[in-house]
Amino acid sequence: MLHSGRGCVKFGAAMEKTLFQKIADKEIPAAMVYEDSLCVAFRDITPVAPVHVLLVPRKPIPSIEAAAAEDAELLAHLMLKVGEIARAEGLAEGGFRTVMNTGADAGQTVPHLHIHIIGGRSMQWPPG
Ligand code: AMP
Repeated sequence: MLHSGRGCVKFGAAMEKTLFQKIADKEIPAAMVYEDSLCVAFRDITPVAPVHVLLVPRKPIPSIEAAAAEDAELLAHLMLKVGEIARAEGLAEGGFRTVMNTGADAGQTVPHLHIHIIGGRSMQWPPG
């Protein structure tokens, strides 16, 4: 095994794509709302609110905890896209919530950094 610092990679084997890479590469269908050379945004398959979009970098960073200094520009790009997508989805006036689940305690189910953009209804705080 080769230890890459971000998980183990078998020698000679291509790293398997994450679910979200497959969506970004159009190997799995999704309802796209935005895409550019660095990221894609698509509707969550199990929405928890009238608007529930996932914003995902094409680069398969496993989580925000695994992001590195070299990802700074990409992360800034994503932050700016949050507002752009929220405005396009009609959420600017009422507001919206952004969520990045990280690891088991937070309930992260897809090990590819993603930002939930959730809105269209009022929400409670703190979250469950
Ligand atoms: P998390 O639990 O924070 O890792 O979020 C993963 C999200 O991906 C969940 O809200 C799922 O509903 C969503 N999801 C899983 N599979 C798909 C898919 N094929 N298309 C769109 N969203 C998906």
